[in-house]
Amino acid sequence: MPVISTPRPSRTARRRDRLDRLVTRLLSVALLPLAVAAAPRRARQVACQWALAARFPAENLDGLTPATRAAFEAARTEALWRHGELIGLTDGYRDAHAQARLFADAVRRTGSATLARNWTLPPHESSHVAGTALDVRPVEGARWLERYGSRHHLYRVYDNEWWHFEYRPDGRPPRLPNPGASVTPGPGDNAGMARDDGMAQMQRLALLRVLDGTRPSAALEWVSPVAPAVTQAVVGAGHWAAGRRRRALAAWARAAGLGLVAWGLGAEAPTRAEADKNMEEHKELLRKLGTQVPATAGTQAGLSRGSLRALDAVTSSIRMVVGVRSGLRQPQRLTVLAIAREAPAGVFYALRVARAVQRRRPRIALGSALVVAGSVARLRAASAEPLR
Ligand SMILES: [Zn+2]
Repeated sequence: MPVISTPRPSRTARRRDRLDRLVTRLLSVALLPLAVAAAPRRARQVACQWALAARFPAENLDGLTPATRAAFEAARTEALWRHGELIGLTDGYRDAHAQARLFADAVRRTGSATLARNWTLPPHESSHVAGTALDVRPVEGARWLERYGSRHHLYRVYDNEWWHFEYRPDGRPPRLPNPGASVTPGPGDNAGMARDDGMAQMQRLALLRVLDGTRPSAALEWVSPVAPAVTQAVVGAGHWAAGRRRRALAAWARAAGLGLVAWGLGAEAPTRAEADKNMEEHKELLRKLGTQVPATAGTQAGLSRGSLRALDAVTSSIRMVVGVRSGLRQPQRLTVLAIAREAPAGVFYALRVARAVQRRRPRIALGSALVVAGSVARLRAASAEPLR
């Protein structure tokens, strides 16, 4: 954020603030009976959140960690009911892309990554991305939080940002001059640091992109996410018909999970264009930091998007046939090899759960969790119902 010093509000602004405070207090009192009906044990807190939502209609508490959100709501309930202070949220959770853009803007504005760090941090260091940072307003609210926030584990962290608070359940962190001070390496280390960060970030981005998946945009693109679900459903039916109940249930759990993931990819995943754009923006940012970034790998030479789609659909269909055969025969029993074969998919879907939860993609999260559960169930079934 570009604000540098604590702003001194004009007299009219102060009068308006006082009025806002009065109206919001009255509103929270008026809403109290309704809140008692809605949540008898947390009525004061609920009424307070409603009144503040009316005062700060643009604020968005989504994406904060549950503990951070609970602490913030408790703190502002106390502020309103005890001292009549309003605390609004200007900015809470930011996704990594938004934070990367903010940081790129800061680099552009200040002319260097080191200077930019005085104001904002790259995504992997930002507590906004972690969901534990709160930028609050107005100044009076921030002052209240600075004074009483520790009861709720909320602390001001930087000298140069009166609005920025963090949820720190482990106790008061040392107050730093600015965001960059937290991790500023020794003199001369900057370039190396940026380069290492750059490479690590590129690898992370590539992984995240695979975990995110992309939204199918044409009928043929649906074949590859849907085919594995069909495969597992058929495998389950085969096992069931042969009386292998546990193997059948394990396959069906995977089928349900894969189906949910496919649905989630259609409804929740970024489109290919969005994914490409994000990737490019990240690369742009990394180049600004002085990192050598490989140019975008061109699309596969000579093949149009359409023929790639068709090829992918054909491969997926073949995999479906092969998958049913091997699904009915493998694994024969629980062996180290069987576990080793199951492990990569298990790890991939476990990571996908974490990523989908972070990005609030419930179908992909639940589906991936089901796939992991199905993998474990398959191994257990392999030991309970060995094949000959
Ligand atoms: Zn902040």
